[in-house]
Amino acid sequence: MKRVYMDANATTPLLPEVMDAMRPYWMEHFGNASSIHLDGQQAHAAVDRSRATLAEFFNCHDAEVVFNSGGTEGDNTAIFGLLRPGDHFVTTSIEHSAVLRAADLMAQRGVEVTFVAPRPSGLIDPADIQRALRPETRLVSVMLANNETGVLQPVEDIGKIAKAAGAFFHIDAVQGAGKVPLDVRRFGCHLCSVSAHKMHGPKGVGATFVRRGTPVESLLVGGSHERRRRAGTENVPGIVGLAKAVELAVRSLADGTFDRLAALRDRLEVGILELSGTGVNGGWDGDRPVPRVANTTNIWFDHLEGEALVIALDLKGVAVSGGSACHSGATEPSHVLMAMGLNKTRARASLRFSLLKTATEADVDYVLKVVPEAVEHLRAISPVAAGTLG
Ligand code: PLP
Repeated sequence: MKRVYMDANATTPLLPEVMDAMRPYWMEHFGNASSIHLDGQQAHAAVDRSRATLAEFFNCHDAEVVFNSGGTEGDNTAIFGLLRPGDHFVTTSIEHSAVLRAADLMAQRGVEVTFVAPRPSGLIDPADIQRALRPETRLVSVMLANNETGVLQPVEDIGKIAKAAGAFFHIDAVQGAGKVPLDVRRFGCHLCSVSAHKMHGPKGVGATFVRRGTPVESLLVGGSHERRRRAGTENVPGIVGLAKAVELAVRSLADGTFDRLAALRDRLEVGILELSGTGVNGGWDGDRPVPRVANTTNIWFDHLEGEALVIALDLKGVAVSGGSACHSGATEPSHVLMAMGLNKTRARASLRFSLLKTATEADVDYVLKVVPEAVEHLRAISPVAAGTLG
């Protein structure tokens, strides 16, 4: 059976060039980047070259790049590394759990936290960030692109507001990196987290931009790796893979790949919206289209259970994800969609389609063939449609 993977925001496969770049660093060039012999130097040089690639990607100095294990660590480091009891922290209610759970923990440890809600479109209004600020606000953390809706946040405006208030600014750029140009100077942030596996790099590796002089404490202590900002032997193959993925992402940003992808996503969206009782989450802000990354659309389907549709599509060879997450065995509607004002039923009946940058017209054709079949079938048998389930 044909399989079409439309869950790129969950993770992406390595591109062959990334695999090829990493391969020598598992075996021939296995050295520890901290060792002074030739094997160590080879590994060290590879890390240095990768750091230069990341610095160009962020538009920062090489010394401002810290390699780590990915988005969760970058987000946690910004929050645990900067906040102390008595501080005030401003973030949003649509962040990834790597920010939200860290914020909850800080709240238990005496940090005051304000979660700013989005507009119904999924956009964070910079004026709401402004209103949330207090004299003791130490950190503002807002994501670049939302993982569920793809909505791009006005981080540049928020950066200016944080600067005027004298607060540090962290951006979780995990879902935006490699899909839109990054520029930490223009964004005005002090920290910016990215992860390799969302842009065709390996899992378990990422990088954070840390602006020179930002007093962020390391989560991990031990050796003096990464200028004492992140202890632990460098994951050399992972770092090399991250840099290659970044290089390819930058090329894709310049060669029209994302225009092609946006056109495919739009065709998919328009095709699905031909079904009755459907709509886009995060498509419009009043009569203005909301800026979104090119690969993502989040669609609600009335009169069915989203989870049932995810399973039905999987059985037909299509991988997508639902607008809900499983917490301790119970399916909870998405916190992002709920924060945007959807009711539980509609939030549960929403699906995220996130296309790989290698997606084809044939992939979209196939999904447009199977989605209506699956929706019609589920609606015909659904207790939601029959009104027997709330
Ligand atoms: N932030 C966002 C917006 C994400 O989508 C994710 C992953 O889904 C993360 C952080 C966590 O990144 P990682 O999987 O590299 O820990």
